[in-house]
Amino acid sequence: MSDTQDFDVVVIGAGPAGYHAAIRAAQLGLKVACIDAGIGKDGKPALGGTCLRIGCIPSKALLDSSRQFWNMGHIFDQHGISFEKPNMDVPTMIGRKDKIVKQFTGGIAALFKANKITTFYGFGQLQPGNIVSVKQHDGSTVLLKGTNVIIAAGSDSIELPFAKFGEHIVDNVGALDFESTPKRLGVIGAGVIGLELGSVWNRLGAQVTILEALPTFLAAVDAEVAKVAAREFKKQGLDIKLGCKVSATEVKKDGVHVTYNDGKADQELVVDKLLVCVGRRPATKGLLADGTGVKLDARGMVEVDEHCHTGVDGVWAVGDAVRGPMLAHKGFEEGIAVAELIAGLPGHVNYDTIPWVIYTEPEIAWVGKTEEQLKAEGIPYKAGSFPFAAVGRAVAMAEPAGFVKVLAHAETDTVLGMHLIGANVSELVHEGVLTMEFKGSADDLARICHAHPSLSEAVHDAAMAVHKRAIHKAN
Ligand code: NAD
Repeated sequence: MSDTQDFDVVVIGAGPAGYHAAIRAAQLGLKVACIDAGIGKDGKPALGGTCLRIGCIPSKALLDSSRQFWNMGHIFDQHGISFEKPNMDVPTMIGRKDKIVKQFTGGIAALFKANKITTFYGFGQLQPGNIVSVKQHDGSTVLLKGTNVIIAAGSDSIELPFAKFGEHIVDNVGALDFESTPKRLGVIGAGVIGLELGSVWNRLGAQVTILEALPTFLAAVDAEVAKVAAREFKKQGLDIKLGCKVSATEVKKDGVHVTYNDGKADQELVVDKLLVCVGRRPATKGLLADGTGVKLDARGMVEVDEHCHTGVDGVWAVGDAVRGPMLAHKGFEEGIAVAELIAGLPGHVNYDTIPWVIYTEPEIAWVGKTEEQLKAEGIPYKAGSFPFAAVGRAVAMAEPAGFVKVLAHAETDTVLGMHLIGANVSELVHEGVLTMEFKGSADDLARICHAHPSLSEAVHDAAMAVHKRAIHKAN
């Protein structure tokens, strides 16, 4: 055991929330240490957390590879492009993904070095008195004392008791590394991961069946968006079964046997691989020694106030380990806000304008309230929507599916929400974020000049449609 090393800020976790906190604190002149236990595929320590190593970045790499492959078989002929049968070399696709991951995890290490952040590779545990003990990968332990400690420990996949992870039953990590396309892929949970990774393997030729416990598809999403999504995913061959409760799985010679009840009777599905993605839980097991004073709630989340403070002097928590959506960019903002608060600046996160994106084809994105929420809250609103089928750029790109919907307060016209499904809406949603952040109105958005031809014209016309003055459709 070494002597205690002193820092202004000790960050536990170098995922999106943690590395943002560490870098911003260092930019503000604070002496920062960051601890991370992550190990890369090559067996070496890798920074960046779930997002960079086994989440956002690798899944987007595979989504892009599989999309190119799908387009070859389904879209290219519309452009007059023909070729012999397309072939997908899965190991090359996975290798490309691994290279991208390595580039970005290495990028965090380089940023830490450039910002003079001291990195410790191992598992950090908070002790009483703002001490963090780090069990390093070589077995040694170091003690760090932080005037401030920021917990940014992230989250782990939830494992179902009757579907233990292994070679055939996997979480998102396993589904990023199949050696070949499974002939039959079962997915438990039609959430973000199920739809994104289900899409990847469906596009590569797997027969994908998704079992969802809830009776409603994408219950948190605007109902009209969810309806279009269900139609498009069905066309692509994704078999999404709603209201299905899985009760057992068994790995046999011919595959994984999944027993589920569809509300009428027990059914059996046999698949080669089973992806379980039924949500994530905070990675707070073993994080807190006795007597720290930091509290966990019933789900294991670190309890914090609206400023991410735990109530214990100098101890903060951010990202997936605390309340709020488990989104990398929510963690980014919390990390920056806490670093700024520590430095005496007015750090702040606007939780009302956090965008959501599901990277399916078409993409789904939204910010703010849905019509269903506005109705439930009794808020008077007007809606304007516009289809991509009437947008020149979308049709020229052979991407006519989907629409943009703008929701504005019926009296003040303030934008309250924007809901999109279509090509590149992961980018377009930020028009809604920006408008809401500046408390703008549908009229403000309607009076902003949008380039023609561009996909953003759907946002423009949807904003105009709020006042029944869309140009390119009957109002
Ligand atoms: P999720 O919460 O998005 O979806 C889980 C789904 O599983 C839900 O629809 C739920 O009803 C269903 N479910 C739960 N238990 C079930 C059961 N026993 N049988 C059948 N269905 C069941 O969770 P996820 O897809 O695992 O993703 C985890 C987290 O990661 C989410 O918070 C998500 O926001 C985040 N994430 C975000 C992105 C993105 O922003 N694009 C991508 C991946 C993951």
